[in-house]
Amino acid sequence: MDRFPTTFSHPFKWAGYGAYVAKRRIRAAGILLALAMLLAGACFAEPADDATAIVAENPFMQIAIDEAIEGITQGHGGPFGAVIVRDGEVVGSGHNRVLANNDPTCHGEVSAIRDACANLETYDLTGCELYTTGEPCPMCLFACLWANVDKVYYGCTIEDNAMIGFRDEAFDNLMGDRDELGDYLVCMDREACLELFAAYAGMERVIY
Ligand SMILES: [Zn+2]
Repeated sequence: MDRFPTTFSHPFKWAGYGAYVAKRRIRAAGILLALAMLLAGACFAEPADDATAIVAENPFMQIAIDEAIEGITQGHGGPFGAVIVRDGEVVGSGHNRVLANNDPTCHGEVSAIRDACANLETYDLTGCELYTTGEPCPMCLFACLWANVDKVYYGCTIEDNAMIGFRDEAFDNLMGDRDELGDYLVCMDREACLELFAAYAGMERVIY
């Protein structure tokens, strides 16, 4: 039995995805914002240097941003850093290493979960909170739930991720309504993370 007919996956391959996203962006008037972000990114003469000046209000989000900056500066992947905190202490951190590892599952949140689990020698992160520069994609969201992470704080939204070329929004539409998660996902320090995304948008980068 073919569980995944070709019509199912096609819109999420690059060829069909451009038209799909364009339609959504026009409807949401998102193109204007995307252009504004690209212009903002273009204004960064030295994106990596400017990115290091980004200041978050929350100290753990700052660590997540610094992780992301390390990742994009070294060309490891997208501008996604994450940190895991238990009782006010950092127990793990990581950033997106999709390009560095040739691993499409190596998102920032997954890297941080692997690091925290290794450091704590457990598969159960009950009592931990995760801070990430971008709202978790479905894979990372469910990885947090599998790991029993108590709560997730994110900077940029799924829509922001789409603005800089990532496919999160298309995959997220398969998942259904995030409202059912209640306050499990909390947005914070979006402005600082948008600065990070703008710096990344101004860099030469591989879109994946
Ligand atoms: Zn992810």
